[in-house]
Amino acid sequence: MIQTISVLGSTGSIGTQTLDVADQLGLSVCALTAARNIELLERQIRKYKPALAVVFHEDKAAELRNNIKDTDTRVLAGMEGLIEAARMESADLVLNSVVGMVGLQPTIAAAEAKKDIALANKETLVAGGDLVTDAVKRSGVKLLPVDSEHSAIFQCLQGAPSNKALKKLILTASGGPFFGRTREELRDVTVEQALNHPNWSMGAKITIDSASMMNKGLEIIEAARLFEVDGDDIDVVVHRESIIHSLIEYTDNSVIAQLGVPDMRIPIQYAITYPERYPSPVAELSLAQIGKLTFFEPDYETFACLTACKRALRMGGVATAIANGANEEANMLFRQGKIRFLEIGELVTGAVDSVPNMTPTKVEDILLADRLARQYVRDRV
Ligand code: MG
Repeated sequence: MIQTISVLGSTGSIGTQTLDVADQLGLSVCALTAARNIELLERQIRKYKPALAVVFHEDKAAELRNNIKDTDTRVLAGMEGLIEAARMESADLVLNSVVGMVGLQPTIAAAEAKKDIALANKETLVAGGDLVTDAVKRSGVKLLPVDSEHSAIFQCLQGAPSNKALKKLILTASGGPFFGRTREELRDVTVEQALNHPNWSMGAKITIDSASMMNKGLEIIEAARLFEVDGDDIDVVVHRESIIHSLIEYTDNSVIAQLGVPDMRIPIQYAITYPERYPSPVAELSLAQIGKLTFFEPDYETFACLTACKRALRMGGVATAIANGANEEANMLFRQGKIRFLEIGELVTGAVDSVPNMTPTKVEDILLADRLARQYVRDRV
């Protein structure tokens, strides 16, 4: 098993659970990064004694540097710092759980530094596409999914036949807090209602993405890139209980699923210990106690983000970076109370249809598409 990890985004939901798993497995931590939560980051630094800590926001980094003068941890800031944390000499694995496409350059940097990557930052693959997967292939490193659905598919694919024989991927979706509602009923929903997820405890950005089903749209794109499957061969089924985390279907119509209680420590641990498995403090699954599992078709009309992501994937080029950039902006504006819930889907759809598409050859092309998409959203609000 690996010994040392670098955790990008260590103060978020996945980051803190990753440190729980690291404790459980007895791993050491060589780098920790946060956007701005320096109080929690300081506690983590005092516990794990990493060589490097990074705070994305410059002024907060200066504050932390002052607060931990008595430790041996070096403090860096900004994208440069994140990239350095992704390239740590002593890291056997880089777990990237930053939020948003800010994780793109660190992921590519980790691949180029020949580090195996556990990826919780789906926006990296959605925005970066082939630039990321090509960098991973060139370096021959592992790109291990942490997202629960993608971990499920990855687990189902262990022992796949040599002729592949894969027919389709089936992603499960909880449906979020607004499952079954009409557009009319969603017109006036509040941020608080959207943040009330039925099954998973997650950060604010992804919880809103889950309510708008943008999260599932991003996950379709993520799955297409991770498993090299055509978007039309990826189905979504709403499964309210979040017990089946996803499925694969072979050409003989045999379907294989991965199940477990909804707890991210399972996919996090599997990404870290792959291909081995170790005991985990996560609760056992009791199917008899759950009683029944339910399944529904997703509502592509009400949840426009889902449709926009499928279209962006089909369009290729930087269209998925545009969908993602527009959503990052719209998601934030909704949380700030500046737009209504349904406008998220309208803005993402509008950006995919109107912001010019092109074939990216370098990271700058992706960053430009992202900026144009955000600008499109801001101009309309
Ligand atoms: Mg997921």
